[in-house]
Amino acid sequence: MDLSRAAALALDDADPLAGFRSRFTGTDDDGPDRLLYLDGNSLGRLPVATPAAVARVVEEEWGRGLVGSWGGWVEQSRRIGDVLADGVLGARPGEVLVGDTTSVDLYKLLVAGADARPGRDVLVCCADDFPTDRYIVAGVAQARGMTVREVEAHLDTGLDLAVLAAALDERVAVVVLSQVAYRSGALVDIAEVTALARESGALVLWDLSHGAGAVPARLTAAGADLAVGCTYKYLNGGPGAPAFLYVRRELQEQLRQPIWGWFGARDQFAMGAAYDPAEGVDRFAVGTPPVLAMAAVEVGARLSAEAGIERLAAKGQALTELVIALADRWLAGSGVTVASPRAAARRGSHVSLAHPQAWQLTQALIDRGVVPDFRTPDRLRLGPAPLYTRFVDVWDAMDRLRTVLTERSHEAYPTERTRVT
Ligand SMILES: *Cc1c(COP(=O)(O)O)cnc(C)c1O
Repeated sequence: MDLSRAAALALDDADPLAGFRSRFTGTDDDGPDRLLYLDGNSLGRLPVATPAAVARVVEEEWGRGLVGSWGGWVEQSRRIGDVLADGVLGARPGEVLVGDTTSVDLYKLLVAGADARPGRDVLVCCADDFPTDRYIVAGVAQARGMTVREVEAHLDTGLDLAVLAAALDERVAVVVLSQVAYRSGALVDIAEVTALARESGALVLWDLSHGAGAVPARLTAAGADLAVGCTYKYLNGGPGAPAFLYVRRELQEQLRQPIWGWFGARDQFAMGAAYDPAEGVDRFAVGTPPVLAMAAVEVGARLSAEAGIERLAAKGQALTELVIALADRWLAGSGVTVASPRAAARRGSHVSLAHPQAWQLTQALIDRGVVPDFRTPDRLRLGPAPLYTRFVDVWDAMDRLRTVLTERSHEAYPTERTRVT
């Protein structure tokens, strides 16, 4: 593999998604000291179209339309859900809804799933999953008198399906898993796990937060039951953007979520005496959606759908391939090891590098215009976003990391964790 900077520029010239970069703010600086943003897996960049889209909702719909604008706003959750279903998640219309947060959506679908498997008293989750997922599983289990089975996953290579299979039996109601591990980027195959869980009669609730907008979920093809995910990461919906939830069409009428809000009720404005769940995916809504934030989500969702999830995934694989090749060539002698799966098909669009001083390296990079993030225990996480990160940006970021390591400038930074990243 040609690892010259010229080769990286050539990859950018041949990139079919190159035109999307200019649709994000902060991407017009081409100087040698420009900011190299590799944290799109934590908070995606601001699309150029977003401020005007939000301003339109504020000024025209809220400012002039006032309460009369509710007609359009009530449709928003499903309209954006359908954009994600078709363009990003590989699901059918009427299966995806936007609103609430990933944590709250996870809670709703977990309780709904557990209720749909009466007599089963075990929830399965992954010991290395994102904290909120594990905490919510533990909280639901405690409230219902259920037991949690935590399956171990390898920190770098992710979950072994044989380990998962050993944890599945007729006691398991719901399995909660992330498609892409937040630390290592390790990817689990949704179709394989769905088939495995079905043998034991358990439902699988997927957290797609670190995959949505970067790798395909192909939910319908996989026969997936339930899923949730963030829109502020690769989907560029903005800080605190509402999440999405997915419920397979055939399951919707059997499931009831635990928060009986009026937005999930049949004939909402009849203001009926008792809660009666709406038909379809609407029954998984709770209350008044964050209308202004949803306007930003719509712009981000449409950008990813326009680019096409298969093309985004192909570029994400090529970008992370370059990170790994440069780490092997330049950084191995400085004690850096690749802490992500090496097979492109087994990872999402971010790579973790392990180094005993990863925290200090992260701080040194931030001060040199490279934004990665740190993850415990000793991981430097690099997330090139296929919509707006170029191959030359990856090359330059790795070059700055190489310089930090050879000059040992990271050693001047305190070892205590002080910043939030
Ligand atoms: C980012 C992320 C979350 C965040 O949940 P919020 O409710 O938005 O705070 C949850 N789960 C996973 C796997 C994530 O990557």
